[in-house]
Amino acid sequence: MSASQIVVIGGGVVGASAAYQLTRDGLPVVLVDANDEGQATAAGAGVIAPGASLRPLPAFYPFAAKAVRAYPELLASLVDDGEAHTGYEVVGKLFVATDDAEHGRLEETLALFNRRREDGMPNLGAMEILTSEAAQQRFPPLARIAAAISIPEAARVDGALLRDALIAAARKRGARIRQCRARPIVEAGRVAGVSIDDERVACDRVVLAGGAWSADLASDLGFTLPVAPQRGQIAHLTIEGVDTSRWPILGGFGDQYVLAFGPNRIVAGATRETGSGFEVRLTAGGVHSVMSEVLRVAPGLATATLREMRIGLRPLAADGLPFLGLAPGIEGAIVATGHGPSGLQLGPYSGALAAVLARDQPVPVDLTPFAVERVTAFAR
Ligand SMILES: Cc1cc2nc3c(=O)[nH]c(=O)nc-3n(C[C@H](O)[C@H](O)[C@H](O)COP(=O)(O)OP(=O)(O)OC[C@H]3O[C@@H](n4cnc5c(N)ncnc54)[C@H](O)[C@@H]3O)c2cc1C
Repeated sequence: MSASQIVVIGGGVVGASAAYQLTRDGLPVVLVDANDEGQATAAGAGVIAPGASLRPLPAFYPFAAKAVRAYPELLASLVDDGEAHTGYEVVGKLFVATDDAEHGRLEETLALFNRRREDGMPNLGAMEILTSEAAQQRFPPLARIAAAISIPEAARVDGALLRDALIAAARKRGARIRQCRARPIVEAGRVAGVSIDDERVACDRVVLAGGAWSADLASDLGFTLPVAPQRGQIAHLTIEGVDTSRWPILGGFGDQYVLAFGPNRIVAGATRETGSGFEVRLTAGGVHSVMSEVLRVAPGLATATLREMRIGLRPLAADGLPFLGLAPGIEGAIVATGHGPSGLQLGPYSGALAAVLARDQPVPVDLTPFAVERVTAFAR
């Protein structure tokens, strides 16, 4: 393996994780981040409960199981490096049925989650169906609902805090952090360096973790990567005088959810605007849909203070699965992007695997479903 330095492009959760893991292995790392407005990690909600998802993507679940299982070790390692503040907490989740039609689907949904648990999916725990009253005791602003599945081991994380912790720990371990746009340089079919602010930084390995902006990096290297921005608008509320730090996540059959963080913050979202392009702006319809859905499910939040709306661009792959593996036809380029709505769950693990690939070592996972080469299948 070469001892030459490795450049990681992109300082969201994926790139930050790759940089951190490389420094843990004692490798010289430069992490370059353009700090684009709309970074997904800065806006992400933080639900860590892939086993309670209804996404129709079979390859997602075994990978997500490994990613979630890797979380505690990562957090412990960050604590050892003096970075304990990530907002990660096992708070549980209520999968809510709001009407009779949804109530009718709750038993089969619970059976699906239990099958996943039996197949080895972590962070679900001993699930049960709760009455409206029991659910309300756990999340007081909740509407009168039909019933809810309690998923006691679901967790949440604060993406921005986790990213900051990873970058701070990488820096302590010697990573150089640059804030600017980078472009990979290829010579004779292999990575020869990265251009950063007109300076050429030599390297023979580059990790491409540019989130929604990754298609441009791929095109610099001469291949196509169908990753596009999917805008998400998300609300941050506070409730004065109430400790919300242990409240569970609320979710259900739709895409919207509500999370609580300490001491009194509620996060409600989010829009999924496929085809939004790189327009980082709030829309009247986006804000309306987020607020109307949260108040439908949790009307007790009507008097909460609306502190902030955030906007993030999820890096969405055309088939919904991440891209993780070697770039086709170029030696030394590793792709780690396309995590869409699940990058806070999968991203730290993907970054760690990208670091393994950058060291030319075998990864302990079958990455075939995530190969860049599958793009040719999209075109058929
Ligand atoms: C509203 C919202 C809610 C979400 N909720 C959840 C959730 O509950 N659970 C979950 O698992 N996931 C969630 N996600 C998804 C998750 O946030 C993303 O999948 C994840 O953060 C993507 O991380 P990333 O590092 O790939 O990209 P990003 O965080 O977008 O980071 C990419 C970085 O690369 C930089 N960059 C790009 N090109 C270059 C270049 N040429 N040079 C230098 N830097 C460059 C950009 O400036 C950016 O900072 C949510 C996302 C949004 C928007």
